[in-house]
Amino acid sequence: MSRSLSKLVFENLKTTLGYNKNQSRSISRSGACNGRALIYNNYGEPAEVLKLTEVADKKPEANQITVKWLLSSVNPADINTLQGKYPSRPSLPAVAGNEGVGEVIEIGGNVKNFEIGDRVVPNANNIGTWTTRGNYEANHIFKIPKPLGTVEASMLIVNPCTAYRMLKDFVKLTPGDTVIQNGGNSAVGQLVIQLCKIWELKSVNVVRDRNDIDELKKHLKTIGATEVLTEAELRTTDLFKSKKLPAPKLALNCVCGQNAVEVLRHLQAEGTMVTYGAMSREPLTVPASALIFKNISIRGFWMTNWKKTHGNSEENTKMFEEIGKLFETKKLQPPPYKIVPLSKYKDAIINALNTDGKVGVKYIIDLTA
Ligand code: NDP
Repeated sequence: MSRSLSKLVFENLKTTLGYNKNQSRSISRSGACNGRALIYNNYGEPAEVLKLTEVADKKPEANQITVKWLLSSVNPADINTLQGKYPSRPSLPAVAGNEGVGEVIEIGGNVKNFEIGDRVVPNANNIGTWTTRGNYEANHIFKIPKPLGTVEASMLIVNPCTAYRMLKDFVKLTPGDTVIQNGGNSAVGQLVIQLCKIWELKSVNVVRDRNDIDELKKHLKTIGATEVLTEAELRTTDLFKSKKLPAPKLALNCVCGQNAVEVLRHLQAEGTMVTYGAMSREPLTVPASALIFKNISIRGFWMTNWKKTHGNSEENTKMFEEIGKLFETKKLQPPPYKIVPLSKYKDAIINALNTDGKVGVKYIIDLTA
């Protein structure tokens, strides 16, 4: 980026946040500074490039609202974005964070559809939520019902929406149909399990083996899993051959590599595999036989793209309402989580980076602490 362009981008960021480059990065709350934001000036290792920075309050522009953020969850994609390895690359410097829940504290003169105190979530990608407050275009923000729990709302727009769309948009599923997925204990996976249960679908969930596998299987069955199999058990299972369950119409792939090949083997003819993650960092290899003899469809899903094309659609509103209602009525539970104060953001980043996995909790940053 040229120096002048980078200066312009920096000026834009200042407009959004009231960022003062000369201020100390220590967290003194003196002078005009009354906010903090996790800002990055370069892509790189998240714990190194993220800087907890003081920001000054600024009035929203006419089409903007000011949001005081409460909680924001940390997703694998946030880490990949900071590393510069994700296809959506915000202009730098940028405030990190893609989702969260906040409260409207100020409203620009042209904005009609928000009131002070409304609970809100982002409705656009990478708006920068790891900040105590910020000014945003009103159409990049979505109002949610107040009874929706703060934790649930803080992780509303990525994982539940991904689970919802993947179950709705690729295959027509009717009660009794089977869905198979790997990464069954991931945050997305646990939401898939619960939505399958609510919509009367059978779910077969593949997880990595571990010392406490019985405990994990018990947990996933408690939230609604029909079956939970380790990768080794998947190779030898006769669940579908024995007709205990119908062969899956839909496979959701969070992992890729050999794991995905084993999942693919169980799809029924004309079935569909939707890939949405590559946690093993291995490629997806599709056996020719799956295409030739079973006419399997191999598809992909990216919530970021869906949001770009459907961000202001009725479908989007319907999805938020439906998921919100399920959370409110406790039919849907958030995946296990741990909340850390903003000052301890590195704990969240480091755990979300742990490629060995088996962390088992979603980290959430508390922007009020
Ligand atoms: P979580 O951190 O909750 O879960 C990560 C999962 O990956 C765990 O089940 C973990 O299993 C598993 N895993 C990690 N490494 C491996 C490996 N080498 N082999 C097998 N399994 C592995 O993540 P999320 O649910 O938030 O996200 C899951 C994936 O989905 C991520 O890749 C994320 O980027 C992607 N995603 C994509 C979206 C899209 O729109 N395409 C939207 C949302 C998420 P274990 O417990 O055994 O470690």
